[in-house]
Amino acid sequence: MKQEKIEQFSEQLLEQQQRLADLLERTKKHLYRREEPYSADFAEQAVEVENNEVVERLDEDAKIDLANISKALERIEQGSYGICTQCNDSIREERLEAIPQANLCIDCADAATN
Ligand SMILES: [Zn+2]
Repeated sequence: MKQEKIEQFSEQLLEQQQRLADLLERTKKHLYRREEPYSADFAEQAVEVENNEVVERLDEDAKIDLANISKALERIEQGSYGICTQCNDSIREERLEAIPQANLCIDCADAATN
């Protein structure tokens, strides 16, 4: 892969990393606030619980994404970015454009989800 291309992916990854860090900061605040007693009104309570579940899922997804992004940035530093960690084939650029933190080629990713 061209150095230029790698730099472009690196920038995308860093931007996403920042975005996720901000998001986690916000979800942390939201989840922390949950320790306070729920409002007395039942309808409001239900909305709060539902919100918390959404936020918790968001929080978990963001943490997983963030971990994958860190690994992708490490691979850039080690010069192994864009190479499938499973079969050592190169990952197609189109795939990396959609998912810059991808560590598997499409074949291995398919095999992993099936
Ligand atoms: Zn592969």
